[in-house]
Amino acid sequence: MKGSFQIARFFGIPVEVHWTFGLIVLWILYVVYDKTGQFDPQMLFWQTLFVLSIFFCVMLHEFGHALTARKYGVKTLDIILSPIGGVARLDRMPEKPLQEFWVALAGPLVNVGIILLLSVYVLLQGDIKKSQFLDLLYLVVNPQSNTFAAGLSQFDYYVVGLIGLNAALALFNLLPAFPLDGGRIFRALLSMRLNRLQATRIAARTGQLLAIVLGLYGIANGNIITAMIGVFVFSTAAGEYNYVKMEDALSRTTVNDLVRTSYTLVPDSWHIPEMLQLIPHGLEKYFIVWDEYQGKPTGWVSDKMLFEANKNASLNDLTEIADIQNTTLVEVQSSDSLHEAFNVMRTHQVPILLVKKEDELIGVLDMGMVDQFIRMTRSLK
Ligand SMILES: [Zn+2]
Repeated sequence: MKGSFQIARFFGIPVEVHWTFGLIVLWILYVVYDKTGQFDPQMLFWQTLFVLSIFFCVMLHEFGHALTARKYGVKTLDIILSPIGGVARLDRMPEKPLQEFWVALAGPLVNVGIILLLSVYVLLQGDIKKSQFLDLLYLVVNPQSNTFAAGLSQFDYYVVGLIGLNAALALFNLLPAFPLDGGRIFRALLSMRLNRLQATRIAARTGQLLAIVLGLYGIANGNIITAMIGVFVFSTAAGEYNYVKMEDALSRTTVNDLVRTSYTLVPDSWHIPEMLQLIPHGLEKYFIVWDEYQGKPTGWVSDKMLFEANKNASLNDLTEIADIQNTTLVEVQSSDSLHEAFNVMRTHQVPILLVKKEDELIGVLDMGMVDQFIRMTRSLK
């Protein structure tokens, strides 16, 4: 996601904040002004502290997912925090149902852990009686209530507020709807009995049903945020199902079904102008670069890289293809599934792969071909 910048790095995972976080600052100022009618530095302090704490809790929740995923060998690219919550972008989702179950559950469990810790504090210190605790929680969570009437100190108000917030985070995320954690937990449980595609279909449909209920509830009560969450959940549930349907189609097709056996090998001693003449005549966008002396492939170039290099070149530029090529060259076997090949492209961030049958180079597979295949499976029912 663009528009976010890194603020920290924990356990080797970059934590980024989305620019819309700035809206929260405006919101704090609005709330502070609205409640007191004038600028109150103390109020500003507690509101700021609370908002920062929200983000801290959301971040811990995401690290729950990320570190559990790491246990199963799944890397997390980054964690992005925005006003509507956080996302831990995993390199891939673990496909074993039990692993997905734990990765999804770990987030809400972190919030439950925070609730337990803070509750122990609240119940141990004398100011809040045990019998009052739930009433206070209700007062803080319910925005219409007058919390100051309860005679809480600002600090206690803050702690009880955090408990309420974490309860809301845990419960909301446990709703059985994609892309929420509850949807993934539900799918993982279904996957233990059904295949992944069937499990996803049921979980996605359930999520959409719930989204409709949320949407209607939001509209009926004039609660725009609830209605918007309904719309968001509805469309992402559909997206998740389409994604799994695509994965399913990819894993039932082999590289051999799609491999392109006629392709251009570009000598690495060629210059950019020669190469540019070639491009308009073919359908290829990615080319394998060939070392003529050693008789082997050394890298790849894309049409974009060539155009870019050409823009920066002078008229009698003698830049060779060898100088601009990307030397990350990965090969797959023709018997591999397209799903495996697709994952290889994503992990190594290469748009073209060499396809081998045992030791013999038989062709190439590029991103454009895979994209076209995906579009085709989408249009088929
Ligand atoms: Zn989560």
